[in-house]
Amino acid sequence: MAQENLNPFEISQRQFDTAAEKIGLGDGMREVLRNPKRQLIVSVPTLMDDGSVKVFTGYRVQHNLARGPAKGGIRYHPKVTLDEVKALASWMTWKCATVNIPYGGGKGGVACDAKKMSRAELERMTRRYASEIAIIIGPDRDIPAPDMYTDDQTMAWIMDTYSMTMGYSSLGVVTGKPLQLGGSAGRNEATARGTLFCIREACAVLKKPVRGATVAVQGYGNAGAISARLLHQDGARVVAVSDSKGGVYQSRGLDPAQLDEHKQRTGSVVGFKSAERITNEELIEVKCDVLVPAALENQITLRNASRVRARVVAEAANGPTTPGADRVLRDHGVFVVPDVLCNAGGVTVSYFEWAQNMQGYFWDESAVNRELERFMKRAFHEVHELGKRHKVDMRTAAYMLAVGRVAEATRVRGLFP
Ligand code: GLU
Repeated sequence: MAQENLNPFEISQRQFDTAAEKIGLGDGMREVLRNPKRQLIVSVPTLMDDGSVKVFTGYRVQHNLARGPAKGGIRYHPKVTLDEVKALASWMTWKCATVNIPYGGGKGGVACDAKKMSRAELERMTRRYASEIAIIIGPDRDIPAPDMYTDDQTMAWIMDTYSMTMGYSSLGVVTGKPLQLGGSAGRNEATARGTLFCIREACAVLKKPVRGATVAVQGYGNAGAISARLLHQDGARVVAVSDSKGGVYQSRGLDPAQLDEHKQRTGSVVGFKSAERITNEELIEVKCDVLVPAALENQITLRNASRVRARVVAEAANGPTTPGADRVLRDHGVFVVPDVLCNAGGVTVSYFEWAQNMQGYFWDESAVNRELERFMKRAFHEVHELGKRHKVDMRTAAYMLAVGRVAEATRVRGLFP
């Protein structure tokens, strides 16, 4: 089998090139849109609890600002690299354009093992990272949010660090904040709820009810665990789940509430009562109706794509499927809801949070969920219709829609100076 390129940034450029070709984008515009506008690399010296000083490397990349401020999360993970952050930033550009919210794309990350750090160490590292990137972020410049191994507390520290530096409280500088600090109702569940709306639409297209559908979820963090819970509430049967330590399978169905409790207590879904132990690789190949990759990039590759037995792949993670695997899934008739659409619920409610912060007027949760449903359904159908019209898969269609929107904004603005 040919060696597959797994560099996330090169993969994101390939996905972009496919769409650029289809919509006949000129060479100059292609060069502008396929590369990031700004890339910042920072050293983050941090006092550790044992008195030593450790220097972490952090990144913030702004891929594109044509349609508005940069928007995108901050990831803490030992394997964070500049190329990964560049890919994630470009995926944010296409994601925001797919759901048509007025942002460009950005992403940040710090290479660190958050699971091995104390809360005090995390706070000191976060505050120093925030002050290092403060030169490029701001409510109308670049607005971070949570991503893997960061949460509402991380956002509160960043908001405080930025606000102390500026001399006033800036609610709109980050989203995904705690509710007491200008966070939005529904933001914590938003990525999963958006994924649920996409799965409902995909099932409707395939004329297959969600009720009774079997589901496998890879990754049991914010997106994965809450997706499992919401799908269970919709009557689906969650037969397999996994996290970084491994997975569990139960053909009768697993109860997400009990799984949450088990994970809370033991730190993993592994060892859940009366379930069969499986690996993360095996989870991808589980026979099910809906597979939800909700962990890292490059999980469905040329090596395992032909063994995917799901009818729908709903990408709650960013970049879980390689271009080679995409081709295999398409040939096998698997309906892929691409990441830039499927997990866009998170950034959509981030947009609502930011809008609420700027207006100083807050919505209740039902209003947030109603608006989220409207945005997600509209985007799903725009992508699906475009795909049918041009006879392309959902990913290519989403990129055609998104790249077209960003190119149009760039064209009407004109080239400076
Ligand atoms: N980290 C999330 C994502 O990848 C959310 C970003 C945001 O809300 O800005 O879409």
